[in-house]
Formats: sequence, structure tokens, C-alpha cells
Amino acid sequence: MKMENELVVLGGGESGTGAALLAKSKGMRVFVSDSGAIKPGFCEEMDQAGIEYESGGHTEERILRASEVVKSPGIPGYSPLVRKIRERGIPVLSETEFAWRFSNAKMIGITGSNGKTTTAMWTYHLMKKGGVNVKLAGNVGISLARQLLAGDPDYFVLELSSFQLEEMYDFKCDTAVITNLSPDHLDRYDYRFEKYVDAKFRILNNHDENSVFIFNAHDKETMKRLRSMEYPGHRLPFAYDHVYGRGACVENDLLIVNSAQSRFTFPLSEIPVAGKHNIFNGMASALAALSVGTSVDAVKEGLKDFSGVEHRLENVDEINGVLYINDSKATNVDSVWYALECMEKPVIWIAGGTDKGNDYAPLEEFVVQKVKVLICLGVDNRKLVSSFKGKIPEILETKSMKEAVRLAKTKGNRGDIVLLSPACASFDLFNDYQHRGRMFKEEVNNLKNDYE
Ligand code: ADP
Repeated sequence: MKMENELVVLGGGESGTGAALLAKSKGMRVFVSDSGAIKPGFCEEMDQAGIEYESGGHTEERILRASEVVKSPGIPGYSPLVRKIRERGIPVLSETEFAWRFSNAKMIGITGSNGKTTTAMWTYHLMKKGGVNVKLAGNVGISLARQLLAGDPDYFVLELSSFQLEEMYDFKCDTAVITNLSPDHLDRYDYRFEKYVDAKFRILNNHDENSVFIFNAHDKETMKRLRSMEYPGHRLPFAYDHVYGRGACVENDLLIVNSAQSRFTFPLSEIPVAGKHNIFNGMASALAALSVGTSVDAVKEGLKDFSGVEHRLENVDEINGVLYINDSKATNVDSVWYALECMEKPVIWIAGGTDKGNDYAPLEEFVVQKVKVLICLGVDNRKLVSSFKGKIPEILETKSMKEAVRLAKTKGNRGDIVLLSPACASFDLFNDYQHRGRMFKEEVNNLKNDYE
């Protein structure tokens, strides 16, 4: 027998706790279950709200009596417990799908393999400039459910991962953005790229003739999918070269942005964040902000003064003529490709970590041209070493950030760049990519003492 109205939340992280707090605030019975530990801060919040929870294991019997289950994105759909839940006919949904039911705001959903956070933050920045009542939520930090606890704005900019999208059904966003599609997290998709693409395309669920879809016209997979479906809404492509009709493109060093609402041009030289990928992110953000009526003036102003996002090609410092760049969030090959592409000086490249089945071949051309020393920072560097051995002058290995930065310093000459852009996850030596990036910055900061 199902327990009346008991919502079960699997996973007590940011999104799970957010969902539980929102459910409770709506008068629902809710139970949170996490197979691991729940952070003390989240426990405290749930205690205060009078929410029941368990950690270090699942009480299956209770879970299998739920009326609905909100599954945290970290739990794979193929886990035995989730399978059992589904077999009982209990609906499984993501936190976003659940929270969305309680919002009347218009939604701008942003997904893709790379550039989600940057595009979400940039879009939010443009809309804020325009005085729009907007909040940012999702993968970028604060869950949609938690944001809703503090009230419903007119708009949400939502960063959506494929894991969230997998369990979204009735959710509808007004504007959807897919930044690009390249292989990532394939371990969760039976190593099948098309399954991952399926999940990403769920962002277009329930779109109608008033919906807007913003996408990268250079992206092969996106274009292939679009050709094989009938998209009912407005398409706004962005591309580096010319786009016919509406969308955004670059011509003669000018960004041309042409949405259904307005058209404007903007000098490329005024984009404040480095890299071609950030021109794409800027185009996507401008189109998204315009699609919901942000003024052209606000968009132009916000394109100019966006400060970028920490750990994404972040300039840390220049010490003794050597520039240190933190790109710790580059956890896949495609993001490193864009980082190397925009390097205009000799590079000392710090890379490595937990390899997610990487194929480094796409990087070879840039690595050969631009990298003078590769410093492998990981527990097991064999794949990285064998991919580039003999192709660059020097490869070094270390397991410590301190040593990696010290080695980089000894190899660096005035005019060089030291780039941390790992192409790998960070879990072998660090808690997460933020930890890795912070350690890098700390060690770079420590170098300054050597010169004082
Ligand atoms: P996500 O949220 O999708 O992981 P981020 O904005 O956090 O994306 O950026 C992750 C990494 O990808 C960073 O190294 C960043 O420099 C790089 N990156 C950002 N935008 C793009 C893009 N449009 N294409 C490829 N790489 C990108």
C-alpha cells in the first residue's frame, strides 16, 4: 500500500534537501534517504523544518510505499533501488521537475556539454542589467526548490544537467539553450553518445509554437537531431560564420545578434572573456536574454562587463612575466581544446586526474604547436604520457599541486603561460574541481613570496 502523500527524496545534497524543504513548506509529508552521509548543514536545516531523514543506508520498505520519489541527479537511474521503485509503479522525478510545479515564473533552461554555467551566469547578468526580476538556479549552485522557498520571481535562469533532464516530464521552459554536445559522462549512458544526447534534448519537452530554442549551428549532433525532428517553436541558431535569418553570428569582427525582438551589432573586441567558446557563450546569452524581452542597451552593457566565472580560464596572476591561468573546470577534452585554442604564447600545461575514457587526439595539433612542457598531475598519468610522448619537448609527472606549480615556475620564461586545464575529473587527488582550482591559486600565490 502506498503511504498517502509521502514524498521520498533520494539523496540529501543541495537538490534533495531543497526539494524536501519545499515539499514540507507546501504541507507535504516527506522523508529523505541517503545511502551516504548527509552534510551537517543540510541535516540542521531538515531538523529545523521537522523533516525526517536517514543517512548511511535506505529503508527500502518505507521508500517503496512512497507516492512519488524525487531522485537526486547523482543517483543513476539503473541503480537497483531506483529500478525497484519504478517496478512498483512509483513515479520517479528530478528535483527540477518537482519544484517546477510550484512556480509560475517563466523559465530559461540551459544545458549542453560545456559552457552551461558560464552561459547561465551570463544570461542572468544580462537580465539583471535590464532590471528583470530574475533568479539563477540549478546546477550552478542553488537548487530551484530552494530558490522557490524564498519566493517566485518573474523569471528563472536554470542550469540543467543531463541527469536532471533524464527525470523531467511535464516541465516546460519558455526558452531552451543547448550550448554544444560532446561526449561526457558516458559512463552513465552505457557508453552510448546518442543516449546522452537524448537526455539533453529533453530540454525541448513540451515546447510549442511560442517556445524558443537557442543552439550552436556548428554543433554536428545538435544539427543532426534538429533535422530529424519537427521543432514547433522559434529557432535561434548561433554560429561563428554567417547565419541566415534570425540568430547570432560574427561578421567583420562584429557580433551580429538578431532575435525576433531586436537586432544589434557589438564589437568582438569588447567581449571581456577570452576564447572563441566565450563568443559562443556570449551569443547564446544575448539571444536568451533578448528572447524574454531584456532591452538591447542592457544586453550590450552586460556583454561588455561580464567578469567570467571562477575556475574557467580565470587569470590568477602574472608573476615574473609568466601568466598563470586556472581552468580547473575543464574536465573534458573539448573544454581543453577551447582553452588551448586561445593561447597565444608558449604554454606550460598542467593536466591529468581521473580519466573519463578520454581520447586526446583532438588536442594534438594545439599541443604540438603551443605546449612546451606538459606537467601531468594525477595518480595514474600513463594515458596522458603515452598520448603526447615524443610530441612535445618535455613531460613531467607529479602527484602534488605544490610540486606541479613549482615545476611550472622553474620551466617558465618571461612571456610564457602556465595553464591548469586538466581534461580529467579531480577525484584522485582533490575533493572536486573547485578544490583543485583553489589549491592551484594558493600555490601560485605562494610563489610570490619567492620574489619578495
Ligand atoms: P559547464 O557548466 O557546462 O561545465 P562551464 O561554463 O562551467 O561549463 O565551463 C566548463 C569548461 O568548459 C571550462 O574549462 C570553460 O572554459 C570551458 N567552456 C566554457 N564554455 C565552453 C563552450 N561553449 N565550449 C567549449 N568549452 C567551453
